[in-house]
Amino acid sequence: MHISLDELYIQPLGRVDEEVLEFLRDGLCRLCKKADVKPARSMPRRPYNPDRGQYDGPMILEEMETDGGIVMGVTEMDLYATGLTFIFGMASRKKTLISLHRLRPEFYRAVPNMKLLQARAMKEAMHEIGHGLGLRHCPQISCVMHFSNSIVDTDLKDWRYCRRCSLSLARDGIDLPAEMAVRSQSIRIAEAVRHR
Ligand SMILES: [Zn+2]
Ligand SMILES: [Zn+2]
Repeated sequence: MHISLDELYIQPLGRVDEEVLEFLRDGLCRLCKKADVKPARSMPRRPYNPDRGQYDGPMILEEMETDGGIVMGVTEMDLYATGLTFIFGMASRKKTLISLHRLRPEFYRAVPNMKLLQARAMKEAMHEIGHGLGLRHCPQISCVMHFSNSIVDTDLKDWRYCRRCSLSLARDGIDLPAEMAVRSQSIRIAEAVRHR
């Protein structure tokens, strides 16, 4: 199955911080030929679980629509999936969803920090797009496809795909711009030796 990286639509669900949406658009347009922020839509009511005070992520994803390109729902609301306390985001083929709720330093009683929030949002966006493109979790801690159990894991990882993950995408016919992939140090050293 070939997935086109031509178009990506960011779909705010409810009121979402514009500085984060613009940062995502500017970053992700390097991955796709076109990245746009759509006008905000109200958060659907059905996925709200009043007992948990959270929204059912898979149900939101189900209700999202894609018109050919990749769509990324972005919400400030807290998300969960059955069996999990919370989720940072999720993906199903061309439909992806991330929540800023637990990416905000304030959630952890730290001072607000826009740069940190933007960096975390970019990592979660790249992670979910990676799933949307067929990537699974990656054992390499620094890879954006590494599973984030907590925000500490998110802060530790890079926002880009590791060499193994980018090669896996390339095998599926998805060529990433060089800047979206990290070349491992061992490979860089090997090349330096070869070029001497
Ligand atoms: Zn994941
Ligand atoms: Zn990886």
